[in-house]
Amino acid sequence: MSAVPAVVPVSGCGSKGPACFVVEAGNWRLMLDLGYGPQPGLWPDVSRVGRIDALLLSHGHADHAGGLKLLPEIGNPPVYATDIVARGLPSHIAVRPLPLSGSTDVLGLRVTTGRSGHAPGGVWIHLALGDGLLYMGDNSIESALYACDTPPAAGTVIIDASYGDYDTPLAECQKSLLPFFDGGGVLLPAPENGRGPEIALHLLRSGFPLPRIDDRIRAALQRLPTADAACLCPGVAEELARIAEGAPKAGEPRGITLASRADGTAGEAADLLAQWAPRDTPAIVFTGYLPPGTPAAELTRSGRAQYLRWNVHPRLSDNITLVQSTGARSVLPAFGDAKHRKTWQRAFAPARVPTTGSVAL
Ligand SMILES: [Zn+2]
Repeated sequence: MSAVPAVVPVSGCGSKGPACFVVEAGNWRLMLDLGYGPQPGLWPDVSRVGRIDALLLSHGHADHAGGLKLLPEIGNPPVYATDIVARGLPSHIAVRPLPLSGSTDVLGLRVTTGRSGHAPGGVWIHLALGDGLLYMGDNSIESALYACDTPPAAGTVIIDASYGDYDTPLAECQKSLLPFFDGGGVLLPAPENGRGPEIALHLLRSGFPLPRIDDRIRAALQRLPTADAACLCPGVAEELARIAEGAPKAGEPRGITLASRADGTAGEAADLLAQWAPRDTPAIVFTGYLPPGTPAAELTRSGRAQYLRWNVHPRLSDNITLVQSTGARSVLPAFGDAKHRKTWQRAFAPARVPTTGSVAL
């Protein structure tokens, strides 16, 4: 156990892997996220982590919160999450509350959270330790649907570097999708607790006919303006309710179809891909990460499907702005490929950019 407070990446640094970081101080140890995936079968190695006193979850996506079956291996610590995230966790987990936007005490430590613009109930997490540790989880400032709050100053920031050196605005991505939206039919596999509802909102606002949607995306569109309303940008609730009410059911190859899961491994997207991938139509477009070994990766590699990104993580310039506004001295680039290390070092200078090992706070 470290006398100087430190953060230790267990998993999620140097590549797209399950999120898991340990924060050590004098007499306690805290974990930030315990994910699984996104590649099928990829678990964080917690065999040498030892006992943890509290686990804080940034959001409910599997690569951040899908590793909870490992809790017994780290001493079954209490799990902290926002109410919206807690509703999606297995029912046997007793969850202690984190605010969506505000402060609370965990293990006697001041913990401040704010909405991260990425998923229902998702937050960044700031720990008042050393000169501050800010963990961004996954975040975005471009979402028209999920609200984001500005994080406070911090000496050390764990950024969402999923996109490496990529810097294309979401508006450009939306333009690239136009030929598919205007065409003879397209299937967009998308997560219900992420960009699925965002793409539906974009289609409504752009004057396209309402997309066909699967039951999971419809349920999310019903939940967002009601139980999940606190995580929304102002004014979108009514539009989401209108889509949930009026969007036709998925199953017809004509028009635009949104169906979960995003990687095509399960859900209605898997069923529709099984029917439609062997044919020439409709078009199939994946817009998120393509985990190796999934239909998303296989169909784009074979050329049957296209890949056009829909931003749900920060661009390089968003991360530069974040690093400058927090005044960070150390920047840990999480979830991105370490091949971008030199770009990150140049972009975030004079901050240090360690990509391995523990970092003193
Ligand atoms: Zn996420």
